[in-house]
Amino acid sequence: MRDYKDYYAILGVPRNATEKEIKAAYRKLARQYHPDVNPGDKEAEEKFKEINEAYQVLSDPEKRAAYDRYGEQWQAYQRMREQYGEGFQPEGGFGGMPFGFESFADFIEQLLRGGGGFRATGFHAPPRDIEQTIEIDLQDAIHGATRTLQLNLEEVCPRCGGLGELRDHQQTCPACGGRGRKRFSLLGVEMPCDECEGTGRVSALCPTCGGSGVVRRTRTITVKIPPGVAEGQRLRLAGEGLPGSNGQRGDLYLRIKIKPDARFERKGNDLYVDVDVDYLTAILGGEVSVPTPHGTVTMKVPPGTQSGTRFRLAGKGIPLGQGKRGDLYARARIVVPRSLTPRERELLEQLRQLRQQEVKA
Ligand SMILES: [Zn+2]
Ligand SMILES: [Zn+2]
Repeated sequence: MRDYKDYYAILGVPRNATEKEIKAAYRKLARQYHPDVNPGDKEAEEKFKEINEAYQVLSDPEKRAAYDRYGEQWQAYQRMREQYGEGFQPEGGFGGMPFGFESFADFIEQLLRGGGGFRATGFHAPPRDIEQTIEIDLQDAIHGATRTLQLNLEEVCPRCGGLGELRDHQQTCPACGGRGRKRFSLLGVEMPCDECEGTGRVSALCPTCGGSGVVRRTRTITVKIPPGVAEGQRLRLAGEGLPGSNGQRGDLYLRIKIKPDARFERKGNDLYVDVDVDYLTAILGGEVSVPTPHGTVTMKVPPGTQSGTRFRLAGKGIPLGQGKRGDLYARARIVVPRSLTPRERELLEQLRQLRQQEVKA
């Protein structure tokens, strides 16, 4: 026996749930497990099938009533009922259990094997928003840029609208050869074919998507990145998301990721940069060159500048729009010469002696 599937548990609704509750639960789960949202995730795909299967049954009052009574064998029950009329009652009412079967459930199980089950019947897929990450340089984040993106996304098949089959292209049912009935050898009886539901015809598989209901498409889009975008900021590109089965597209959101920069460190809208300060300039004060994203500027440092001292250059950071900008912080890094000329050494020795006398006095 295959495991009993609890369609109520699958949809997470109580057994007495209303049609409205069932529909709401289905829509929520279908959105969550839709293959578009979970590309390549086999588990989600299985779950999605299961959700659809459960909904097919519970959304139809007649099927639901049969399921409530006969569990997963409700389909077989329906076929038997069609075959044998209103009087057909499975509980011991089948004119004795056919030889070799322990129970009615076992018997039905045999009937269902080698076919049956649910066929994908499609659904209405709404247009959906998607989010992608775009990695940009700090310079592009500051000054803005134009980028071309290649999006490789699974979309609802435009030919079949996600159904996987073409309802208007019927073909002969392969299960019954178009007879609409199948012979069950053990019983020697013929039953309506469960593949084609007795019609002898089935919908042709969609040639565009091969029955999966989705197609993979590469689209090229051009994005304008405004100056001053922040890490984690989302840019909305209206109508560039995934299409629903009606062809309408959702929106695309691009999440900004700024690549680390070799020179500037970014904290919010402020930038930090290390600036070399010659040891004599640090002692005596003077001018140093500071790289900024907007070019190199000259900055004054006071006498007695210590290593690690931060100098704020207002408005030299990230542009914020409306003429405003974040700040740039220059961190002093005192540079001491690795070698000295004899004359420099002599003078520095003299300076040291002088300094020692000054300190004592
Ligand atoms: Zn058939
Ligand atoms: Zn298709």
